[in-house]
Amino acid sequence: MSQLSLPFLTTREAPQAHSDTRAAPPSGPRLERSVSLEEPRPHLAMAARLAEGLQRMVREPVEVELTDNAWTMVSYRRVEGRLRFRLHHMFGAAGDDVITALAGFTGHKRKQHGRTIDLFVKQNRALIRSSPERDDVPLTTRGRVHDLREIYDDLNRRHFDGRIDARIGWGRKPPGRRRRSIKMGVYLHDRRLIRLHPALDDEQVPRLFVELVVFHEMLHQHLPPTEGASGRRCVHGPEFRAAERKFPGYEQARAWEKAHLHLLLRRS
Ligand SMILES: [Zn+2]
Repeated sequence: MSQLSLPFLTTREAPQAHSDTRAAPPSGPRLERSVSLEEPRPHLAMAARLAEGLQRMVREPVEVELTDNAWTMVSYRRVEGRLRFRLHHMFGAAGDDVITALAGFTGHKRKQHGRTIDLFVKQNRALIRSSPERDDVPLTTRGRVHDLREIYDDLNRRHFDGRIDARIGWGRKPPGRRRRSIKMGVYLHDRRLIRLHPALDDEQVPRLFVELVVFHEMLHQHLPPTEGASGRRCVHGPEFRAAERKFPGYEQARAWEKAHLHLLLRRS
């Protein structure tokens, strides 16, 4: 799951919301099976070529699995004496420089090699496909009070040069008892989907606050999580927080949130 929650009201995000980290890919055997069933054959040849190139450089046995994951481009871990890479299939076309960077990424100069990899990913961005569900799920964008499509388009123009590419919609009202916290919004990286909590679609919730929540979720696409010094995924890093604070009306929106949290909780 690469589901990210907005911790405006909760002080921290649930750790399981970030389990799709480089350090913790899902279990191996299951993946291998799914690859042989789902990946077209050329991928196997490309994976073998990459594995060969990488193996020469890291001087240990390497396995490569090419994925179509729209979020994690590169991950690796050591399993039973092997270095197992999971790479987006764009790396099938990687040249020697990028293969060198992938090998180097597992060593001490991560940062330097990471830059080469980032550049390659940027250049091949068009190959990143969002999941097939993307166009199937009908989304309600126009709420009773707030029109998310309009807010999103406006923010995209004003703050992102129209470069954010996501779908947006209101979530469904979650069943169950009263909550002590509410997730205002989520951004699902692999589906490029922003979902807002339906409690925000209310006359008493000012547009400015809804805007800030939408802006926050859009920022997640603009500034994807980074890997912190400890190797843990950092979702709301300093750069993210700084960018968020630049949102016009940020203080005002946060002040409203503090004063009216009880309203939202009652509705969630
Ligand atoms: Zn967030």
